Amino acid sequence: MALPSASSALSRRPPQSAPTLELSVRRSRLRRRMRAADLLIVACSTSVALAVALYLASGGAAQVVDGPSALNAVGIVAGLVGTDLILVMLVLAARVPLIDRTVGQDVAIRFHRRLGKPALYLILGHLLFLSVGWALQDGHTLVDETVVLFTTPDMAIAYLGLGLLVVVVVSSIVIVRRRLPYEAWHAIHLLTYVAVLVAVPHQLSVGGVLTEGSAERVYWIALYVLAFGAVAWFRFAVPIALTLRHRMRVSSVETVAPGVISLHFTGRSLDRLRARGGQFAIWRFWSAGTWWHAHPISFSAVPTATTARITVRALGAGSARLAALRPGTRVSIEGPYGIFTDVARTASRLAMVAAGIGVTPARALLENQRLRPGETTVVLRGADDTARYLWTEIVELTRSNGGAVYSMIGPRPHGQDSWMSGADLQRGVTITSVFPHLLESDLFVCGPAVWSDAVIRDARAVGLPEEQIHIERFDW
Ligand SMILES: Cc1cc2nc3c(=O)[nH]c(=O)nc-3n(C[C@H](O)[C@H](O)[C@H](O)COP(=O)(O)OP(=O)(O)OC[C@H]3O[C@@H](n4cnc5c(N)ncnc54)[C@H](O)[C@@H]3O)c2cc1C
Repeated sequence: MALPSASSALSRRPPQSAPTLELSVRRSRLRRRMRAADLLIVACSTSVALAVALYLASGGAAQVVDGPSALNAVGIVAGLVGTDLILVMLVLAARVPLIDRTVGQDVAIRFHRRLGKPALYLILGHLLFLSVGWALQDGHTLVDETVVLFTTPDMAIAYLGLGLLVVVVVSSIVIVRRRLPYEAWHAIHLLTYVAVLVAVPHQLSVGGVLTEGSAERVYWIALYVLAFGAVAWFRFAVPIALTLRHRMRVSSVETVAPGVISLHFTGRSLDRLRARGGQFAIWRFWSAGTWWHAHPISFSAVPTATTARITVRALGAGSARLAALRPGTRVSIEGPYGIFTDVARTASRLAMVAAGIGVTPARALLENQRLRPGETTVVLRGADDTARYLWTEIVELTRSNGGAVYSMIGPRPHGQDSWMSGADLQRGVTITSVFPHLLESDLFVCGPAVWSDAVIRDARAVGLPEEQIHIERFDW
């Protein structure tokens, strides 16, 4: 397939922009999403503020009469805020559709991660301040007070919960996480649920902040039910229902290139998944070597009523095993998720740049767009000629809509942080020579993390507003 190279991108027909009505629909959708994102932040902050306010209003403030009681109050507030943040983290990881539609799973998970360390420090502060406060009140040393607490059954299991939380946070520190297989890290991460649950008895018995009939008790029970209910519903009940309803099975395994396969599926009413081009799902394949690991993988084509397709590059042991799947293997699915779709569009033109296996959501996204002639410019990037996965389909989809496709093949230049090939860089190709109408375009980027960051850096440097940058990361 001969494609014009990126350096020939300057000669093209003048693009047509989207009509004003379509543009205003996109803009108002963006405003709605931004309002919803603001509301989510307000809801998180309010839940923390309410936890503290309810404690203070129900006698917490009045109990501060001296130094030790002040330390106890600080300890209790730290514990309440820390627990509240952990429950917020559970909600963020629960794959709640509203959160997905508003900010996307990747942003929700990034936010979830950012809260991890502050939550742990608050819980450690809770333990420290209360232990010192109680030791001073009881006339004990800190060590004696700790021994007393350890021998109280509810406190002993609360210590266990704290220990589990430390293990979870340490396992998530980048340097530790990189050394762990994903599944091991994920299994450790599930201990968070245990850690939160084993802390509940000490809140009821020792804490006193959850005394029967108090507004605090109602508030905390509601928060626990919301967090655990969201996890149970969206991560277990809904996926099981989806799997039973759609009865997906592998229909064939197609080799696309060395190490890259397309998995074709059949199923019932797959169009009712309402997957938009560019979305992904979390897939589990019920064969002996694969049932215990699920993978987030984008649809590489928009599902029809009876068929669906994903395209996978073997990047690790789990994805490599998928090539050996047999037709007939049952498939479970969570999703579809993500906002790397037409729904995220805010501008009149479409610029797309995809590298390597990052073409998968790009391919499906193009299928889902109503594009005007000249509206779309796609750059396909490969390190070499073997990395042209699905390029023929992308070219057909783009050209049939009157768009332009360019290729950029070759390794990145040594010692330079560029997303282009060394040859293109030498020829003076820039992001605006490839996408001359970039500032009026939505830029969709999908490829390796460092490469994507380089594209986005160039786009920001020429002044592309944040809301016009859309990125799908394969590594969250
Ligand atoms: C939104 C999204 C869409 C993706 N779409 C595609 C696609 O269309 N085609 C494709 O080939 N690859 C895609 N990937 C990447 C794919 O998920 C990983 O390559 C695959 O899961 C690696 O698993 P492994 O066991 O082979 O390798 P491992 O060595 O076990 O994992 C490598 C890395 O993959 C990530 N990963 C593995 N399992 C999971 C999981 N269950 N949840 C989240 N991250 C995980 C982790 O960052 C891990 O460090 C996508 C990833 C994401 C997040």
